[in-house]
Amino acid sequence: MPAASMTARATCRCRPASARSSPTSPAPNAISAAPTDAAMLCHRRGFLALPGGFAVAAFWTRAQAATTLPSERLPRLVAAYPDHLASVEGDHLVWRDGTRQPTGAASPERPFEQMLRDASIADQLRQTYERGPPAGPPPLNHSPGRLRNTAFFTRMYGDCRQAAFARSLTSVTWMPKTRPQRLQVTGVNDVARRLEQVIGDLESMPDRFKAYLVPSAGTYNCRPVADTGLMSMHGFGTAIDINVERSDYWAWANRRGQIAYRNRIPYEIAAVFEAHGFIWGGKWYHFDTMHFEYRPELLA
Ligand SMILES: [Zn+2]
Repeated sequence: MPAASMTARATCRCRPASARSSPTSPAPNAISAAPTDAAMLCHRRGFLALPGGFAVAAFWTRAQAATTLPSERLPRLVAAYPDHLASVEGDHLVWRDGTRQPTGAASPERPFEQMLRDASIADQLRQTYERGPPAGPPPLNHSPGRLRNTAFFTRMYGDCRQAAFARSLTSVTWMPKTRPQRLQVTGVNDVARRLEQVIGDLESMPDRFKAYLVPSAGTYNCRPVADTGLMSMHGFGTAIDINVERSDYWAWANRRGQIAYRNRIPYEIAAVFEAHGFIWGGKWYHFDTMHFEYRPELLA
């Protein structure tokens, strides 16, 4: 695959660093009382059989749109990041260094677009990421994992715009038996070691899966997400894009605001990532089928 082609399409949902606006930390407690968009999330929609390992089903029935945050989700967040988080006390998340961060759990759910640009800790946990083969295209705006509190991830992984951030990065060799490629990811939360475990499992899969995996379209890249201006998980060194030429992305399929779901990545590949704490962008309404990011709190 021509490198120029890969570079042009691998921009994923992100813009080059040179074109970005300055990402800003959201105000985690700035919760409005705007009406919920739960009704939109809960609507039922039919779909057709799809390639890529989707089971054929008549209707999506698993849409989750809690108006209040299920009680187990904040403790699950603490358990997922034991090196950094100590507890939940009242409406605050307590970090091991004593920092207290508002969770926003007492505030009502807001419209998706507001949460996307200014997610509280609670918003980050509202949508349910389902393990296992998808039953079909996700419902409108159901993109579990896209709601992110930037302050939370910056505190945990660091700010890639600061020189000291480079010390958190380490190199791994992507698919060493298939097409070796050196990639940089964070060592925080053992992400590098976990990605190496993913690689070991992927290398043991039948050869027919390898074309979806190599070359990787990239890991660490200090850049914002194009449609939100907030730092991408690639900017924290916690995400990887697999072969862009076998992948699909919602912005490529956006026709006058209508997003037609498309995926060619076999679920068997996503299952390997999920087993090691990485979620898949192929399960998002705003689908990004090349994209995986370390989000153990959504898989617990
Ligand atoms: Zn990506």
